[in-house]
Amino acid sequence: MIDLHTHSLASDGTDTPGELVNKAHARGITVLGIMDHDTVAGWEEASNYLRPGMSLVLGSEISCQTLDGTSVHMLGMLFDKANTELADVLATTRDNRLTRMNRIISRMNEAGFQITIEDVLAQLAPGATLGRPHLADALVAKKIVASRDEAFAELLHNNSKYYISHYSPTPEDAIKLIKGAGGVAVIAHPFASLRGKIVEIESFASMVEAGLDGIEVSHRDQSQEESQLLREVVAQYGIIATGSSDYHGTGKLNELAEFTTKPDDFEALEARANARRVVRK
Ligand code: AMP
Ligand code: FE
Ligand code: FE
Ligand code: ZN
Repeated sequence: MIDLHTHSLASDGTDTPGELVNKAHARGITVLGIMDHDTVAGWEEASNYLRPGMSLVLGSEISCQTLDGTSVHMLGMLFDKANTELADVLATTRDNRLTRMNRIISRMNEAGFQITIEDVLAQLAPGATLGRPHLADALVAKKIVASRDEAFAELLHNNSKYYISHYSPTPEDAIKLIKGAGGVAVIAHPFASLRGKIVEIESFASMVEAGLDGIEVSHRDQSQEESQLLREVVAQYGIIATGSSDYHGTGKLNELAEFTTKPDDFEALEARANARRVVRK
């Protein structure tokens, strides 16, 4: 089984990279992708926990924004983490996430919520990418809400009056950075309408032109109809379809391998990287 999109404590998942590898192994996953938001911090630990017979696809889910303000998540897989252009953009995004969190907290404080940046940082593993889920966890710890889900539904969603975006490259720039670092670019859950504004179908053309390799067609936040439409886009451009869980540990309902990628599709994807970077024992 191939699950190319999961998260660890290096961003907003709740398993350490090692635990994530162990759970994936127990679940029968043979190819595991670890795609923490805007970081490669979990790569080394995950590699150390690798089991014989299992392959790791290391990457990062890069937060992007289109020029019209739509949030897009771009999975960069199998890139060279020593590439400084890409590493610099990820570092800028991570730095800006702290500024942005302080601004969200100010808005919430003005509305009467008693929450501090220290409360939020207490929810973060050392070196992890800071995000709204950590604010959600802090709100749960303070008993302001009951769960991450409730925090997002009531207070932290993209249309909330407390919402502020952070610095992000455009999807096209992220694709070029990933390709420049030798990796492959797969757009994550582009039609996940539950999450807010979705990618316009017309905008796939410029992403393919920038080098987009694939689309995450199967994902729990996309309906059957949305997946079918994406399958047609994949066929139209001759790119690759993936399916994945977007597992976040106990942070979300998503279960490991609830959606998977076909072996042929994974092989085609891997062949598009400029070097063999799948980690095997
Ligand atoms: P941020 O990157 O700080 O803008 O936060 C976005 C992250 O919040 C996404 O990566 C999701 O993992 C997470 N998220 C979005 N909606 C929910 C939800 N309803 N419950 C739990 N996590 C969520
Ligand atoms: Fe996440
Ligand atoms: Fe995502
Ligand atoms: Zn994700």
